[in-house]
Amino acid sequence: MKKAVLFDYDDTLENFAPAEAVADVFIAEQIQKHYDIAPRDFLKEYNNVKVNRIHKGSQSEEYSRILWITEVLSELGKRPEYGVVDSIVEGYWRVIAKEAKLFPNTITVLNKLGKKYKLAMISDSDGHKRIKDERLKKIGITKYFDLIVTSDDTGYDKPDKRVFLYTCDKLGVHPKECIMVGDSPKRDLMTPKRLGMTTVWTTECLRRDAPQKWVDYEISEIGELWGIIELITKK
Ligand SMILES: [Mg+2]
Repeated sequence: MKKAVLFDYDDTLENFAPAEAVADVFIAEQIQKHYDIAPRDFLKEYNNVKVNRIHKGSQSEEYSRILWITEVLSELGKRPEYGVVDSIVEGYWRVIAKEAKLFPNTITVLNKLGKKYKLAMISDSDGHKRIKDERLKKIGITKYFDLIVTSDDTGYDKPDKRVFLYTCDKLGVHPKECIMVGDSPKRDLMTPKRLGMTTVWTTECLRRDAPQKWVDYEISEIGELWGIIELITKK
């Protein structure tokens, strides 16, 4: 018996990747203005640091754009000033808030599922929960969830199992009673699968290689979720 549906946010319910591409260019332009580094040179280093940091561990303090930019500036021989880097990152989030949009069927699906299941969002957050909270409120999605868990709540990022167990505990459900939906098999689905949840991989924004052992079902857009859950619960 399924009682709860858990969602990742970025690239699962909203098109984060294209928004991030625009926002990364904003960072590079600001860096050029303040530190006289060509955008191409900055972005090359920045993307390296980002990839390394994002996949490095599950400690949430490693997930920080302020940290990544500071590291790149040091590597390029510049002295980072906290006030400047901090305000560039604030600007980055303003660009994201302007560019990122919910997928066309996100609200319809949440509305329908919310009548039958408890709904939670589990989202790693760069920096403070405040930034994520503001983004979610502005886009109008907060009210559809019984629970929203970000890295600040647990001190860990996905795929650390404490994040998922904390969510189950707060909702009062067993992992076996949950369906987890996400775009990243490794970060969103690996641990839930090991904990006994049913996993749904969504490829609406990006299609990464999927280790099939972590993926129970695949959807190409979030609107397909309703039908898939009907199928799962009939079994
Ligand atoms: Mg995601």
